Amino acid sequence: MNINQAGYNLCSGCGVCVTACPYGAITFDLNTDGFYEPVVNAEKCIDCGICTKVCYKYLPAKEPFENTFQEKPVYGAWSKNIETVKTSSSGGVGYELTAYFSEKGYKVCGCIFDAPCDNCKHIIVETVGDLEKIKTSKYLQSNTVEAFSGFKKNEKYLVIGTPCQIYGLRKYIRLKKWEENFILVDFFCHGTPSFNLWKKYKEYLHRKHGLSLTLKNVNFREKNVESKWQNNAILTQDSSDKEWVQNRAFSENLFFKFFLNESCQNKACYECKLRLDHCASDIRIADFWGKKYAGNEWGVSLVITNTEKGEQTFDEIKPKLEIEAANFDDLQNSQGKRFNVPNQKREAILKELQGEKTLEKIYRKHFALKEWYRKSIIGRGVSFIKRRALK
Ligand SMILES: Cc1cc2nc3c(=O)[nH]c(=O)nc-3n(C[C@H](O)[C@H](O)[C@H](O)COP(=O)(O)OP(=O)(O)OC[C@H]3O[C@@H](n4cnc5c(N)ncnc54)[C@H](O)[C@@H]3O)c2cc1C
Repeated sequence: MNINQAGYNLCSGCGVCVTACPYGAITFDLNTDGFYEPVVNAEKCIDCGICTKVCYKYLPAKEPFENTFQEKPVYGAWSKNIETVKTSSSGGVGYELTAYFSEKGYKVCGCIFDAPCDNCKHIIVETVGDLEKIKTSKYLQSNTVEAFSGFKKNEKYLVIGTPCQIYGLRKYIRLKKWEENFILVDFFCHGTPSFNLWKKYKEYLHRKHGLSLTLKNVNFREKNVESKWQNNAILTQDSSDKEWVQNRAFSENLFFKFFLNESCQNKACYECKLRLDHCASDIRIADFWGKKYAGNEWGVSLVITNTEKGEQTFDEIKPKLEIEAANFDDLQNSQGKRFNVPNQKREAILKELQGEKTLEKIYRKHFALKEWYRKSIIGRGVSFIKRRALK
């Protein structure tokens, strides 16, 4: 018995099975669609079943569906240090958690953009100075294997990752009987886009804006633009320090157009049972999108404490934060959707991202006409008539 056995869910590529396998029988690499996928080596596998014990595939949905956050405390929070807020994705709660617990002697595990390898991976940070590297969201799948395999029995860790990575890790540390030493933090997750989108986006930057294909730094949540938190931008810096800021709203940025059009996320992300059905972290953070902070300039983090440990952890960092109580309605208004629905063109787009076509061409083929129609007088006229008819 191993993870090749069908489950309730598709593989999310969290990588924990690779860490958990005592026989080194699972390898982990990008598949042709541009997502991490574990592969079992039948010759090494002895069917011990340990990989299935940590695997997200075997987590059933709640039937009937019940929102797991219904009874949980919800907060809006941001760091008292405005520089932290400005350089974080939302309100900087992620950074304040890592900084406080790093100073207390915890090792912190989070995601970096790994420039030499041109991908994302988790690392274990030993010093407060290195925490900058893991700050902010990287909208790519992070490879957890090396970092998660480096956890040691008697050390204390604070780990931040996607809900599926944290679910697998919770199961793994429970098997190991190490749970007491860990604080687990996840976030509301829109899913992770294909690496093939990232490759095409880099080629686009190269062609249109003269950046070299070797990037040194990427900030997917650059706030030093006119629109700040509400409409953030991607900043890319190449190996010769040339910078380009895609200084536009989410809806005008080619990378985010594909990502937010639901056209290139991992299939498992569209049925994620860890979005609202279940949650394995002590604390969940997010952007506090929605009505409550619609006018906010630099960013507010949404915080939900899921466990007693999560509540105690959050209590400890409260002096570093401005905090406002929120409720379940605010949460629903901010993160209401149980699942994101995949774009009908997803399969075709994933195929084209593997080929020779430029990103602009793929975009024009699948979305430009629709966008033109929506913006045009005809499109606006039709939607006006539709709205009138609904009244
Ligand atoms: C792929 C992805 C999708 C997201 N989708 C949503 C969403 O739909 N709605 C929403 O409200 N928020 C979403 N977020 C979370 C959001 O972007 C912020 O992380 C959150 O608001 C917390 O911000 P912060 O300023 O407190 O912390 P930040 O400074 O943003 O800290 C975030 C932490 O997440 C970790 N991290 C960054 N990138 C990754 C990654 N690729 N994989 C695993 N861990 C990572 C880092 O180690 C860091 O410690 C998403 C984040 C990611 C990475």
